[in-house]
Amino acid sequence: MIEKRQFYINGSWVDPKVAHDHPVINPSNEEPCATISLGSDADTDAAVAAAKAAFPAWAATSVAERKSYVEGILKQFEKRRDEMAKAISLEMGAPIELAFGSQAGSLEWHLRNFLVAIDEIQWLKPMGSKGDTMIAQEPIGVVGLITPWNWPMNQVTLKVVPAMLAGCTCVLKPSEEAPLSSMLFAEFVHDAGVPAGVFNLVNGDGAGVGTRLSGHPDVEMISFTGSTRAGRAISRTAAETLKRVTLELGGKGANLVFADADDGAVERGVRHMMQNSGQSCNAPSRMLVERPYYDRAVEIATSVANTIKVAPADQKGDHIGPVVNKRQWDQIQNYIQKGIEEGARLVAGGLGLPEGMNRGYYVRPTVFADVKPGMTIEREEIFGPVLAMMPFDTEEEAVKVANDTPYGLTNYVQSGNQERRHRLALQLKAGMVEMNGKARAAGAPFGGVKASGRAREGGVWGIEEFLEAKAISGWN
Ligand code: NAD
Repeated sequence: MIEKRQFYINGSWVDPKVAHDHPVINPSNEEPCATISLGSDADTDAAVAAAKAAFPAWAATSVAERKSYVEGILKQFEKRRDEMAKAISLEMGAPIELAFGSQAGSLEWHLRNFLVAIDEIQWLKPMGSKGDTMIAQEPIGVVGLITPWNWPMNQVTLKVVPAMLAGCTCVLKPSEEAPLSSMLFAEFVHDAGVPAGVFNLVNGDGAGVGTRLSGHPDVEMISFTGSTRAGRAISRTAAETLKRVTLELGGKGANLVFADADDGAVERGVRHMMQNSGQSCNAPSRMLVERPYYDRAVEIATSVANTIKVAPADQKGDHIGPVVNKRQWDQIQNYIQKGIEEGARLVAGGLGLPEGMNRGYYVRPTVFADVKPGMTIEREEIFGPVLAMMPFDTEEEAVKVANDTPYGLTNYVQSGNQERRHRLALQLKAGMVEMNGKARAAGAPFGGVKASGRAREGGVWGIEEFLEAKAISGWN
């Protein structure tokens, strides 16, 4: 059993002020795999005080110096990537190959992109060609970073690295479900020699450390990724101190598949949906298919879902792992039940554990066909390997259904018709539109609209979230 009760505050690992043990459960076997502590207000205050004390000196460092510390973090990661993959896999159930690949790899990817993007920031620039007004970009101050469990290193890197590069100091509260990877990240920061107080980590839950950070008068900004529910709660708590709040929240992505889509489009959509056991905010969870291609698409989706294996996270090979915990498992089962009751046609997977499994939070890769707009599984984020398929007759109808959701994170278009793709890309209400399976370029902003939150992470946009613009006149 791993014992990691300490927090990383002011450059050292310190005991919690009040003992409050919390088990981390391995979702592959439902057994506790680690003990951490949940922090108290006093622990949070100590971390914020350390970050506040470190801020003036850190903000005054040169960009080159901050970059060299971040490069040091990358070097530590390169030495210990295996450990990082194992921590992620153990705490949240990502299959080990996914954990080593995209999950841990996201740290390197984002970090390298930020090292490029930081050179594009104009710290002091004249406004327009005439006049003597200058615009200075300055770090906002102490920032609180609150992250979820589903892509733990992805989200931690998307917050800690730009905050540090911008010249901010920070307090990270990772998810209490998946704290091990973040504690390893803290070791990377320490071993990279980052000055004391620049980065601090306090474990805890939303009601405790999360709320204290969100309402703390010395925290200038909260950057949050997680559920829409928690995003609202944080915004309310933060309102009193008028801090900046940036939110990356849930999604209910629509994937519009036209009859002229490439042959691999449906399979790609199903696999994307099931990856990480469906626990991705940008999952293409609603597949809308043009009527002439609909029956064939349902056939393909059924057979692809039936070939997706489910297995423990530490097992090598191509499969999905469990979902993160019992609460998520129960919630997903409820959604599958609702889908059946409301009359959607179950064509793959369904209720209960996959055949031959009796322990672990495993969900059968599930596909519903003939889902209708307004059904619960069409409206709500399931956060599990459950795909909803529905036919459409016209492009206008597809856009209407795609946009008729409280969310707006990523929508997808599969079509060989470029004019149509261009039209749709502008009509879909979302922070991101991915077409024909093409990934966004390095440093492209990640974020949503409406109930998906309104932050932008990654690249230049992701760094500017942590900066304030100051307008200075009379410069000349
Ligand atoms: P969650 O909202 O329950 O928890 C996320 C984090 O917020 C955790 O660290 C938790 O302790 C903390 N928290 C919870 N309540 C809080 C409160 N009242 N005040 C302060 N902190 C609080 O979410 P989760 O279950 O860990 O993650 C799943 C959700 O995250 C999904 O809805 C998913 O779509 C969303 N998500 C969004 C993105 C994105 O970039 N848009 C990325 C990943 C996950």
